[in-house]
Amino acid sequence: MATISASRHAFIHGQWTVDDSARLYGLQDWGKGYVGVDPDGHVTILPTKDPGKQIDLYEVVSGLRERGIHTPVLLRFNDILSHRLKEIRKAFDDAMTEQQYRGGYSCVYPIKVNQQRHVCEQIANLAVELNFGLEAGSKPELLAVLGLSAVAGGPGVNGMPIICNGFKDDEFIETVTLATKLGRNIVPVVEKFSELELIVKHAKAYNVRPKIGLRVKLSARGAGRWESSAGVRSKFGLFVSEVLQAVEYLKKHGMLDCLNLLHCHVGSQLYDIRVLKNAINELAHIYCELHRLGAGLTTLDIGGGMGVDYDGSQSAWSSSINYSVAEYAADVVYRVKAVCDDNKVPHPLIISESGRAMVAYSSVLVMDVLGTSRFEANPDMEAIQKALKQEEEAPQPVLDLLEAHANLTDRNLVETYHDATQARDEAMSLFSLGYMSLPMRAAAEQMFWAIGHKVLEKALKKGGELPDEFEALPELLSDIYFCNFSLFQSMPDSWAIDQLFPIVPIHRLNEEPTRRGMLSDITCDSDGKVDHFVDKRIDKKTLELHEVKELPGEGAGVESYYLGVFLLGAYQEILGDLHNLLGDTHAVHISLDDAGGWEIDEVIEGDTVEEVLSYVQYDIADMKRAMRLDIEAACRQGRLTLAEGKSLLKFYDDGLEGYTYLEG
Ligand SMILES: *Cc1c(COP(=O)(O)O)cnc(C)c1O
Repeated sequence: MATISASRHAFIHGQWTVDDSARLYGLQDWGKGYVGVDPDGHVTILPTKDPGKQIDLYEVVSGLRERGIHTPVLLRFNDILSHRLKEIRKAFDDAMTEQQYRGGYSCVYPIKVNQQRHVCEQIANLAVELNFGLEAGSKPELLAVLGLSAVAGGPGVNGMPIICNGFKDDEFIETVTLATKLGRNIVPVVEKFSELELIVKHAKAYNVRPKIGLRVKLSARGAGRWESSAGVRSKFGLFVSEVLQAVEYLKKHGMLDCLNLLHCHVGSQLYDIRVLKNAINELAHIYCELHRLGAGLTTLDIGGGMGVDYDGSQSAWSSSINYSVAEYAADVVYRVKAVCDDNKVPHPLIISESGRAMVAYSSVLVMDVLGTSRFEANPDMEAIQKALKQEEEAPQPVLDLLEAHANLTDRNLVETYHDATQARDEAMSLFSLGYMSLPMRAAAEQMFWAIGHKVLEKALKKGGELPDEFEALPELLSDIYFCNFSLFQSMPDSWAIDQLFPIVPIHRLNEEPTRRGMLSDITCDSDGKVDHFVDKRIDKKTLELHEVKELPGEGAGVESYYLGVFLLGAYQEILGDLHNLLGDTHAVHISLDDAGGWEIDEVIEGDTVEEVLSYVQYDIADMKRAMRLDIEAACRQGRLTLAEGKSLLKFYDDGLEGYTYLEG
């Protein structure tokens, strides 16, 4: 197991160092040069991958706290976003130069991946500079994209490709037709044949020569979670027979020259490059055939799907990918060129709709740990003995557990653990049947945990692989760290599709993490937990974490301990929901400044309680009025003093205006 070998490494070399932490948490593996650690043990962000320009995450969070912005907070790094877009641009430019490809490349950003205005505006501005574009998949997104490209301004705007996917109605097509008249480089992609009829109708009515795209259902299968995005049973696109009908239809209307773009989308997070190669090969062949039939095709749109190596393993695994951006570009360019050259067809402009790959790296959520729960290794023996004396007759399973604990040796690990498990199960069923007291049940649980810890410790000391019998133990005995966030709001794909995101303490990396835990959020949903963590080799169910000390004083909570969740820029924000009425977190845009430090560009405050209640149609004024009347009545009847009534009302009002998360 990776974690054990990491601790052993530290053991051999003595002092734990930040390099040990970097290795343990895989910072280099999934961080791809954007994430590092400084000598103080703080995680740093290298927005341009330049080690000379690092932003200390812990310093950012402390700085924000001083400004009254508390965790959980989503940090967006503008420089990562722009670096990433340039990296994609460069990968295709290099591949095209190397392979003497003459068609050019553009990346259109599907705004569904993260529609936040600040993110999209930055991308729209960069799009003008990099010859990139935007993609809309619905009516509201179309209106957003038309506005965004206008806001980006400059002479590049009208040339900026705008691709419209998804289902379209009459009004949608009419808007697109008028936008074409306005001068926009906009391409509606036909997903169903009836959309083509609408396009032709409006083109005639407004006397416009539109650019038309066709999405084709490939026979090549997709792969992974979004496998059904491709193949003949996919939701979107035309069968090859319909593509041929479309050609006839356009010819009949004298518009075959308008057929400008051929599109496919074989799914998101394509982890195996072979799937992409097969799809591109098929798409390029169809392109050449249509070219031969006289279509005015100039553009091949290969859809999205460029993946992100979330776990850092660089493998064909759902949370990873077995290729780099450069390899992706080289393979796409190579396939398209080979097929076109064979068919003597001019190289098309290649468009990719890479959403995830553009934005995933740029956002990090930082959350604070509120407390921990432990499955103790050292039971309070005195208390257990005392409780036993109170019993008329000591229950056999508890006696068995005590004996097992006392007699455990290196030679009887498996046997003792087996007996202990049986005794614990017996204890639980006796309790359920009403034959065991609550203190005895508590004693049985505590003794079982103690035996588990001892067994695990002895088994690990023996070295080598953990025997199968004990495989579940580390997980069973691990701590629970309660964190101030909602999984459903901030990392919904962790819940919905078991997506892994790297999670790392953002400070104390110069200290060996001595605990192992899983994370729980503050929703009251038992699904609101993280119990799978990234690792290059294993399915890791607990995360190495630092001991978090209780602060002195009743209810004073614990010392500050912050965890960062990385690679959250794609899909998470918009798919996040209001489970338990936990709203949007604060979002803060951070940039490198000229002096080598960092600055805050933008603070977007998270939802207030009032806002989330209004989303679900509460009338805040009504609620305040009702509370005030009830409090007044209570004061009149002497159940509350006037001062108490005033405090309660103030808590109520302040609470409504406050953050939906816990504010320490
Ligand atoms: C969702 C989607 C994309 C974006 O896919 P990524 O995997 O994020 O690159 C691109 N094109 C279409 C048609 C989509 O539906």
